Amino acid sequence: MPAYPLRALVLRKTKLGETDLILTLLAADGRQVRAVAKGARKSKSRLGARVEPFSVLDMLLHTGRSLEIIAEAETVQTHDALRADYDRTMAASVVVDVLDKGSVEGQAEPQLFDMALVTLDVMESAPVAALEPLVLAFLLKSLAMHGYRPSLDRCAACGAEPEAPLAFSVEAGGVLCSHCAAQGSSAQPIAAEARDALRAMMRSRMAEVPEIVVDPSVAREVRWIVRAYTGFHIPSRLRALDYYLGQGR
Ligand SMILES: [Zn+2]
Repeated sequence: MPAYPLRALVLRKTKLGETDLILTLLAADGRQVRAVAKGARKSKSRLGARVEPFSVLDMLLHTGRSLEIIAEAETVQTHDALRADYDRTMAASVVVDVLDKGSVEGQAEPQLFDMALVTLDVMESAPVAALEPLVLAFLLKSLAMHGYRPSLDRCAACGAEPEAPLAFSVEAGGVLCSHCAAQGSSAQPIAAEARDALRAMMRSRMAEVPEIVVDPSVAREVRWIVRAYTGFHIPSRLRALDYYLGQGR
């Protein structure tokens, strides 16, 4: 079978046998692809030096029996700045971990790849204080691309325009009016400012997210809502996200 070209973002690498690596990739069309980089762990391997998480590669692949085989790989973008700084590495690790757990083999989602790359690009130079809003905005936007856009303008249950006090229900899929919140047990009260921050994250382009001001009094609430909403829709353990949101806060 002839080799075919693929541009992809490296999400994860795992050891295979003595000298090989398996790469988990997000292809440009949003599918997840797993491919073997033969000999990549040999010290002289040219390939091995290129296949780090956060890197974007142009590859030639052969279809193998169970996994694709990398014939050639050229680096398109290294995203080195994400590896040079602890805060950036941790934030970018959440992005690739969520893409790893949330993208599906054989299921295309072209916008996901573009959004992931823009997110990593912005994270390379954003102020450190903007990294968490970028992580949270990425989670909300990627869930929306998978069909789970949270309802933030209207009550997720009855469609009415909700007035304060607001509540949020991950099961219902967004904010609830006080009437609907009183009906169910899963709703948590949230401040209007928390809803505004979530709305700003959904509406802003990634490059604009660093300008969103999240009121410190509601930062915890915003973090909690996005974590719970993500966990509801991506049931796999999100180790990088738990570590990121848990650290020293
Ligand atoms: Zn309602």
